[in-house]
Amino acid sequence: MTKPPLTLYLAAPRGFCAGVDRAIKIVEMALKKWGAPVYVRHEIVHNKYVVDGLRELGAVFVEELDECPPDRPVIFSAHGVPKAVPAEAARREMVFVDATCPLVSKVHIEAERHHENGLQIVMIGHTGHPETIGTMGQLPEGEVLLVETEADVAGLEVRDPERLAFVTQTTLSVDDTAGIVRALTARFPKIVGPHKEDICYATTNRQESVKAMAGRIDAMLVVGAPNSSNSRRLVEVAERAGCSYAQLVQRATDIDWRALEGIRSIGITAGASAPEVLVNEVVDALKARYDVTVEMVETARENVEFKVPRVLREPA
Ligand code: SF4
Repeated sequence: MTKPPLTLYLAAPRGFCAGVDRAIKIVEMALKKWGAPVYVRHEIVHNKYVVDGLRELGAVFVEELDECPPDRPVIFSAHGVPKAVPAEAARREMVFVDATCPLVSKVHIEAERHHENGLQIVMIGHTGHPETIGTMGQLPEGEVLLVETEADVAGLEVRDPERLAFVTQTTLSVDDTAGIVRALTARFPKIVGPHKEDICYATTNRQESVKAMAGRIDAMLVVGAPNSSNSRRLVEVAERAGCSYAQLVQRATDIDWRALEGIRSIGITAGASAPEVLVNEVVDALKARYDVTVEMVETARENVEFKVPRVLREPA
């Protein structure tokens, strides 16, 4: 049987970012240095395939520090942790390594600097996401107010409208965030913020490549996990940019073939925590059913690399 033709547009950049790459390497190094088990507080990055792979090597994933025995090392995930977490690990004299992405740490430092200058912070982010919890947890309670939508801005009750700053989660939708920032500056003209927002290069680049292809494809598959904020944003960005069908898939078995019936073109991208092996799996599944022509849609080149500590040290 002849296969129907399909043009497959492959987004570039896609998949792993520098922060995810660094966090995974830190867990691997910790396992080499200290042997199994090494504990990891929260999924090191939001991807089941990655987490399962590390689990097989001896990593144990937990949600809270009190689930870790005091005599085993613990690693904090790329999303960042509230200040109370390393403080508690130190109090328990645990060996710990912080795998927080440097771009998340940068937001933590920004928030602290504003706080030292006497400003109250408004954080644009998603309730309950570990990064939001981590950033809000850098400062005492009440010093960081969370907004998720433009509508939330109207309901904000601040200490002093003249003494405010804002920070953002790194994995938000660039367009939604711009709207929230506009609402904040309209209501609080003196609010201080970063030059643009804190959305990281990887999130921005992946959204841009999706926008570049959304108008010319019949469907879009985003390889990523349901709890990965940046992956979910890619689905939304594709839909808003005119793609009539966009689906988040963890791997090839998630593809809804019925929904893809009759398509002639498809876009593929992957969230910052999705490994390339899963993208290849999805591409191969499409090749098994279609006569595929692959075209690359490259909107940026990334050469960001974050230093991985050469030796993991035990905290003094
Ligand atoms: S998505 Fe951005 S902030 Fe998050 S780990 Fe990757 S580079 Fe860091």
